[in-house]
Amino acid sequence: MTDIHITNARVVRAGSVQQGEIVISDGTIDAAGSASSVPTPTDPETVIDADGMVALPGAIDVHTHMHDDDLFPDGIDFASQTASAVAGGVTTVIELPTQTPVTTPEAVRKKAKTCSALAHVDFGLVAGNIQDPSIDVTGIIDAGTPDFKTFTADPYLASDASIARLMRRAGDAGGTVRVHCETQGLLDDARSTIDGDEPNAYMDSRPLEAELDAISRAGYFAEYADCPLHVVHISSGSGAREGGRFKSRANVPVTLETCPQYLAFSKADVAEKGPFLKVNPSLKSDAERGRLWEAVRDGTIDLIGTDHFPTYRETRKAGWEDIWEPYAGLPGVETMVEFLASEGVHEGRISWPRLHELVCAAPARKAGMYPRKGSLRVGTDADVMLIRAGEYEVSAADHTFVGGWTPYEGQRWSARVDTVIAGGEIVAEDHEVLSRAGRGQFLDRPL
Ligand SMILES: [Zn+2]
Repeated sequence: MTDIHITNARVVRAGSVQQGEIVISDGTIDAAGSASSVPTPTDPETVIDADGMVALPGAIDVHTHMHDDDLFPDGIDFASQTASAVAGGVTTVIELPTQTPVTTPEAVRKKAKTCSALAHVDFGLVAGNIQDPSIDVTGIIDAGTPDFKTFTADPYLASDASIARLMRRAGDAGGTVRVHCETQGLLDDARSTIDGDEPNAYMDSRPLEAELDAISRAGYFAEYADCPLHVVHISSGSGAREGGRFKSRANVPVTLETCPQYLAFSKADVAEKGPFLKVNPSLKSDAERGRLWEAVRDGTIDLIGTDHFPTYRETRKAGWEDIWEPYAGLPGVETMVEFLASEGVHEGRISWPRLHELVCAAPARKAGMYPRKGSLRVGTDADVMLIRAGEYEVSAADHTFVGGWTPYEGQRWSARVDTVIAGGEIVAEDHEVLSRAGRGQFLDRPL
């Protein structure tokens, strides 16, 4: 029996947008294509008339910080944060460590178990934050993740030799390494020249050159170590260009990620938003923001993740008094798709197929889950989002996110996530979450 029949949608796939239909049964895609190519199901349980709406595979966010027993306060956990994901059309997340290390096979298994009980969406894990490369690389891969995270900056700074050795060992075992790229020495020196504690002081403490130097060196390290490299959260167009050099010349795959916040905001916005734009790497100039959109459009940037980091509004507000006080990081999983559809597609910066690549297909490939995730192919997981057009004002009050704020508050957007389907179930409608904690599955990512 057919569970869901979506009609009259503009179905987005790699390279095309086509008026058509999607048929879902038993949690998988039964058919997707033009109305004439899709046999009309006889007895669908639910029919969704998607007239005027765009249909895409559910988005995959390859960079979230959603669960940390030691760091996050009550109410912020994998349940509330994956609920926020599903409200925004994100049906799979790849979760990274924050403060609590995930550097042993036991820690991977423990986090997978904890998060499985809480997950609204399917998820994978990343091991990190690795400072000592003498870890059980193959044991961690066997426990479910070949994806290792390390840093060139505090608070999880790894030495050059440690990064090189980690890359060598991960590369030999068939794994990949993702690197936070800002050179600590340049951050230290910049900080030493700054006296104030106002929000702009923070921006000035993390210079562009720290990112450029670290991306360049991570590229050479990956070539040396023969290890696939993923550069997370690139904050500048120049950073994307720096990483792009290695994509064409490196002997190993190099993938480049940016986040919506670096496309939406620049240093110029900090006077108004203050601590609500405190993020690492910090925001750069408006010119760099423009160059970054160009890199997103032309394919230099491979994919978009959010670096979602949840805090409560009250905690973050303290940063108006002392910007060094609150933890850096922005909530973003619920707004990623709507931002990119509104400010990217509707504003003419990218096409629907490019959005499909940036938040569906490329993240699924990066996570080793394509085409099961990130496509609408027959037989794959029925994760689908429908997006409708219509102007509205962004307000945290309309969001599922429990922190009570969004950096996009007050912006006027033109695309909204209407209906979200995951595993063949309707899990959200207009940011109202209908799924349940524990519905999502841990996606073991063996080699
Ligand atoms: Zn992160």
